[in-house]
Amino acid sequence: MSTFPQPFISTCSHWQATNKGPSSLYLINKDTPLPKEADIVIVGGGMMGCALAYFLTRPGGEGEGKKVVLLEAKDIASGATGRNGGHVGPATYKSFHGLQAPLPTGAGVSRDEAARIIQAERDNLEIISEIIEKEGIAETVDFWRGHLCETHSVKDKLQKRKEMYEDWLSARRDLGLKGNGDTSFIADADEAIKVSRHQGIASCHLRPAGSVHSHKLCTALATLALASTTSDFSIHSWTPISSFSQTPSSSSFLSEKFKPKTWTIKTSKGEIVAGRLVLATNAHTKNFFPESEAIQSHIRPRLAQCALITPPPSYSGAQSLKHTYNMTGGYYLVQSRLSGGIILGGGWDDLVRDGRAKDEERETVNDSQVGEEWTKLLADYCKTNFVNWGEEGYGEGLTRVWTGILTSVKDYLPLVGEVPSSPGLFVSAGFEGHGMSRIFSCARALSQTLQTGSWDDSLLPRSFEITAERLERVQEAERKAEREGLEEVMISAVGEDGEERIRVYAKKKLDGSVGVVGGAEKGEKGETMGRASKSMLGKKEEEKGGWGCLIC
Ligand SMILES: Cc1cc2nc3c(=O)[nH]c(=O)nc-3n(C[C@H](O)[C@H](O)[C@H](O)COP(=O)(O)OP(=O)(O)OC[C@H]3O[C@@H](n4cnc5c(N)ncnc54)[C@H](O)[C@@H]3O)c2cc1C
Repeated sequence: MSTFPQPFISTCSHWQATNKGPSSLYLINKDTPLPKEADIVIVGGGMMGCALAYFLTRPGGEGEGKKVVLLEAKDIASGATGRNGGHVGPATYKSFHGLQAPLPTGAGVSRDEAARIIQAERDNLEIISEIIEKEGIAETVDFWRGHLCETHSVKDKLQKRKEMYEDWLSARRDLGLKGNGDTSFIADADEAIKVSRHQGIASCHLRPAGSVHSHKLCTALATLALASTTSDFSIHSWTPISSFSQTPSSSSFLSEKFKPKTWTIKTSKGEIVAGRLVLATNAHTKNFFPESEAIQSHIRPRLAQCALITPPPSYSGAQSLKHTYNMTGGYYLVQSRLSGGIILGGGWDDLVRDGRAKDEERETVNDSQVGEEWTKLLADYCKTNFVNWGEEGYGEGLTRVWTGILTSVKDYLPLVGEVPSSPGLFVSAGFEGHGMSRIFSCARALSQTLQTGSWDDSLLPRSFEITAERLERVQEAERKAEREGLEEVMISAVGEDGEERIRVYAKKKLDGSVGVVGGAEKGEKGETMGRASKSMLGKKEEEKGGWGCLIC
């Protein structure tokens, strides 16, 4: 069942609010009749759908000489893409270890594959940079490239971090990847505070990253696709699809190659028949599959909130921040190079820990409201945490707040490729809160797969591919956890250092003893004892000791 049309009016993000002029694509072809047929139909006009459209419509691309139609339920970039933090922050050593943690708490991939996944994120940064440079749109899309500053609050974790970092570097060397990924630690607290301007931190880690006006970039890619001289590409906004089915084709339009695999897609504007159908519907992907199919529950929607903070003079002009940030407690920010506005996200972990929010509230596709407590946290963050932030005048400080729907994915990896047992149906979705570091590699690779009919390992890690075996492996890990008496707890669990954010599997222990995760006894696996969110504790259990969990 489709989640569109939506019965509510979504919040408006900073990116949306600053790209509503005549050159944006609001309402494009809203009331124009749909073509009856297309070679390829893409559903979803977020960054994934628009980046794919861009690659398909380049000369020599799979869309050359073909009709490609993009259907979007609302406006271009109206989903997670136009509401995100604008942060392109490839992961490094920390994720390298998280990815190797066994299912169902980690992704369960090998050491080599984890290093490849991290490298694909770095490649993604290069792909965005190349496109932006080639198309001459750096200024238009407010693109900046530099370093992300990851701040650490606990000194005694530094040694452990360095060991993890060295382990990641050695995996890179084993794979023949050159260099250290241009990353480094600042271990001296005073120096870390000086470099980051973030007070009270113990150390920090710097690595390559970028920031971008996500709504403008998505719009620019769609506009470039529309201008293609080699493909017949069109966008229909406000055209939600409700369902699709595979039907024998009598089409004279489609090439012989795709005729037996035709998809009939039902939309609010009638039906369209496509040779191939690509779902770039991220948080909404589950709506197209029955519960009996593993893919249905693999990607789940998850609410997130961001704020625009207008800095006082102390953080404006030449005093602007020199980095993007991933901060303790899951906060992150970028400062726009053009406007100087700071886009700040995160904070959920603090809310849950303090009992001010319940994690189950996040499994929604409703982005029409903001959380009052969440807003307070974001409003206070910069003044509390940045050195000499100073007083905020009227119009400075918290300026705009919005929510958006990202995804939670069972094995933390995007689902890309042809859906098993459904020839001609493709998906590219499930980017968690990290799509800006993955979508461009995925779009380039999927466009190639659509052209060649095969997967190219040099373009995208094999573990991103949707296979029946991958989906089954995840389900079996869940069943095993259940047999061991473990329950999935969708919480933002925090470690002792307040840094880890992960889905955990926990065992309820009413005697106050520690539970187990993934079958491991306390301390045997995972590095940090965490505590589960208060929201998962009934009062009675809390009094008796509640839940224990170990964060892998
Ligand atoms: C608040 C927030 C902050 C974030 N911050 C960052 C960040 O700083 N860095 C980062 O890397 N990532 C971040 N993310 C995640 C990132 O935004 C996403 O991973 C990325 O935008 C996903 O792009 P997408 O195109 O797959 O999905 P979306 O942008 O959600 O696009 C999917 C589109 O599909 C359309 N659709 C769905 N169903 C239908 C249907 N039935 N018919 C027609 N159309 C349909 C939707 O309307 C939507 O436009 C953040 C996300 C949020 C919400």
